[in-house]
Order: sequence, then structure tokens, then C-alpha cells
Amino acid sequence: MNEVRVRFAPSPTGPLHIGGVRTALYNYLFAKKNHGKFILRIEDTDQTRFVPGAEDYIVESLKWCGIDFDEGVHIGGPYAPYRQSDRKEIYHQYALSLLEKGYAYYAFDSAEDLEILRKDSEKRKETFQYGPLSRMALKNSLTIDKEEVTRLLDTGHPFVIRIKIPEHETIVVNDLIRGEVKVESGLLDDKVLFKSDGMPTYHLANVVDDYLMKITHVIRGEEWLPSAPLHALLYRYLGWESVMPAFAHLPLLLKPDGNGKLSKRDGDRLGFPVFPLRWTDPKTGDISSGYRESGYLPEAFINMLALLGWNPGTEQEILSMAELIGLFSIDRVGKSGSKFDPEKARWINHQYLASAPDETIADLLEKIIVGEGIQADRIKLLQISGLIKDRANLIPDLWQQSWFFFRSPEKYDESVIQKFWKPETPGFLKNIAAMLEGHGTFDSATVEFSLKQFIQEQGLPMGQVMNSLRLVLVGGSFGPGVAAIIAVLGKQEAISRIYRALDTIGK
Ligand code: GLU
Repeated sequence: MNEVRVRFAPSPTGPLHIGGVRTALYNYLFAKKNHGKFILRIEDTDQTRFVPGAEDYIVESLKWCGIDFDEGVHIGGPYAPYRQSDRKEIYHQYALSLLEKGYAYYAFDSAEDLEILRKDSEKRKETFQYGPLSRMALKNSLTIDKEEVTRLLDTGHPFVIRIKIPEHETIVVNDLIRGEVKVESGLLDDKVLFKSDGMPTYHLANVVDDYLMKITHVIRGEEWLPSAPLHALLYRYLGWESVMPAFAHLPLLLKPDGNGKLSKRDGDRLGFPVFPLRWTDPKTGDISSGYRESGYLPEAFINMLALLGWNPGTEQEILSMAELIGLFSIDRVGKSGSKFDPEKARWINHQYLASAPDETIADLLEKIIVGEGIQADRIKLLQISGLIKDRANLIPDLWQQSWFFFRSPEKYDESVIQKFWKPETPGFLKNIAAMLEGHGTFDSATVEFSLKQFIQEQGLPMGQVMNSLRLVLVGGSFGPGVAAIIAVLGKQEAISRIYRALDTIGK
């Protein structure tokens, strides 16, 4: 087989949706698995939908995800340029060659004329199609004479070039996921390929570029499946049928309840982000949240996306990028849509945080505490990281689980006071403070041992002591083990927290 070459070809019409990231990921995994090349091509021929900042957003998002390219708009490569608006001159000749071969024609109908026809069809509860059944009654180079066509073109009359879809043909496309897909050509319309502003449409540019860039597999979202027969015809008409890429149309990403496609418009409406990074709409200033800013690790985000539509064939759910590459195959991509599961996404992120090295967690925590205006030494950060990493789902949870190591509590949970603060509590807390004062080694295990011994010797109720001790140290009933907290806080801080609480809650 020739070298595998796949591409991700987004249009910069806004932020990249997580479905788009999944498409990029599957292409990347497929390329890596097959020792092929992965290309980033920007499809910006529809200038009316261009959104400033979208291309940079796409590049930054994929970089954050760890999805690298071998060639592309941001790094160049042997088939540059990789942005379609920079390749404008290339497409015209192909549109002309289709015209010459009789596979395409000029159409001069005005937008208003077509609108009237559309409205008329609507009244009859039909859909207007510019195609095999209607084209001979419309204003195009099939119906008007040659001289008139030349005159219209010479006088700069606006035109489009349309493909001439065959009248009766069953077009067959082999899809690697869906098998044989058959479409009657009569159901297709004569899609516009090129416009008089010098711009190709998506269909022509996409096929020409896939051919010129030697793409071997087109892996893209299911929404493009209806276009595949048209693309197959274009390959044939352009004489490239023998090198037509294989197609694989990926199943849709569905909303969590399975009711419809998870769309960009869902934004934060469903309670979770649909974009990899935060996005600020350049027109409205509206902000949509992103996975990065919400506290997901890129590895977890990728792991979660990989499992939406593909499975490794085992029960294994936590898979590194290297494992995904090793296991990926198109055969294991499902046909039906995958429901997005926000809980699962959080669970996967939790697994990554819980199993990350303390060093990694300490780096994440350091960024947060610096933001809080606190400085902590590395040893302390590492100790804390080990204690809290399996208690966090998202990165900000690391702070929720550890702030009390850096700040003394300002208030104490009333319900815990009600439950555990008895008349004898101040007395035994003072004794514990005295015991700690005299304590030598101050690590978690020895503190724990001494505490237990003390409680037993004094015949104190274990639950009451531990809960009230926790209350004075953190302000509530949360956090890791009490002895571990005391060990990290250090002798003086632990003792002074006991006395501060006694002053506030009561002696
Ligand atoms: N530009 C198309 C998009 O925005 C690409 C479709 C394809 O991969 O062919 O999704």
C-alpha cells in the first residue's frame, strides 16, 4: 500500500466543536498506527462564514490535545499552501476541464429567479432542486446558445459552474464504516462547484485538494456522507477514479439524552463545555467555556473522546495516546451515534488525576496557589499532592481539597459543631495540643500512632475526638486523614489552630 495520508480539514467558521476534535483524533490515530502522514488543511472558501480567530483557535486546540501534524497550514510541507484561500488559482482549471468534458455547465440564473422557483415549489410542498429534472428549463449553458453564453461571460455577468449530475445512475460509494452506500443520481442536485468571484465551493476544492495532496483515506463526520456520491462522481469526471481515497464517515456525537446531535449551539446550555478551549465570540463577546479552562487534563479529554464512537475491544477504559495508537482501527468504529456522557468525562479525568505522579499534581497546584497569592515550598506541595490527588475530578478541585493547608479556616461548620462539640471537647483538645507539643518526629504515621494511643489511654470516644480535631484544623468535615493534615501543617500551626478554634467556638 502507498503511504497513508490523511487530513483534518476544518472550516474556520467558529470554534472547533468536540466532535471536530474527535474527527481530528481518529485521523491522527489512524495516521500514526499506519506510519502515515497527517495534514491540517484549512477550508476557507466560503468567505461569508469566515470568523476571525477561528483558525488560530483550531491550531491551539489541537496542540493542547497533543494531536500533532506532519504538514499543515501552521507548519508548511511539500504540498503547501494548506489554506484553500491561498490556493485560489488552482481550482479554476479543474472547473474548466469539467466544462470542456461536458460534466459541468455555466448557470446564469439570478438569486432572485431561484428564490421564486424555491417558493413555488414550497407552495406545492416540494423541494426545488437545480438538477437533472429542472436544469433544461433554467438559464444555463445547456439551454442558451453558445454566442449568448460567450457574451454573458465577456460582459462579466455573474455565473456559477455546476456539476451535471447523470439522470439515471445508481452511484455506489464504499464506506469503511457503513459498507456499500447507494444513491440514485436523480436525488442529487447539480451542486455549484465554482463561482464568478473566482472561488471554488467546498465540494470542488475538497476533492481537488485531496487529490493533489495525495490523500489516501477521508475520515470525517457523518454529516458529509450525503456529499460522498457527489465527490465520487467528481473523482470519476476528473479522471482520478483510480486514486480516489477510501471513505470513512464517523458516527455523530449525540446529546447525553440521545436526542439529536450535540451541536455548537449547545454551548454551555447542557452544563458542560462543547469546545476544547474557552472561546470568546469576536462579534458578540459571548464566552463559551472550554475543557482546558474547566480543569481537564488533555490526556483525559483525548481518552474520553476516543471512546465516543470507537472501542478497543476490551473493557479497558483508561488508555494513553500511545495505547490508543497501538489499538486503533476503523473496524472498531461504530455505526450508530454516541451519546456524550459528561459524568464519564469527569470520571476519566479523575482517573488521570488520581494516577498522575505527585510532581504533576504539584505543578498544577502550584499554578493555582500562586494565583491565590500564596507561596509554598516544593516539599510541602508534593506531600499535599499525594494526599489529595484521588479526591479531585477536575483541576480546580485540587484547591477545594487543599486550601486549608495554606490558610487557616475562618469559620467552622455549624452542623459539625452541633454534632461533635461536647462540653468535654475543649478539655481533650487542649490535652492533644500538649501531647503534640511534646512530640518528636512529626510524620503522618507517628502522629497517627500517638493520637490513637492517646485516645485509648484516656478512654475517649474516637469519632468525637477525630471529628472535632478535623473541625478545628480545616473548619469542616472534609479533607484527607487527620494525622496527615497535622503532619503537613507542622506542630506549631496545628497547635495554634486548636487554640484559635477554642477561642472562637468555645472553651
Ligand atoms: N471543511 C469540511 C468541514 O468543515 C471538511 C469535510 C471533509 O473532511 O471533507 O468539516
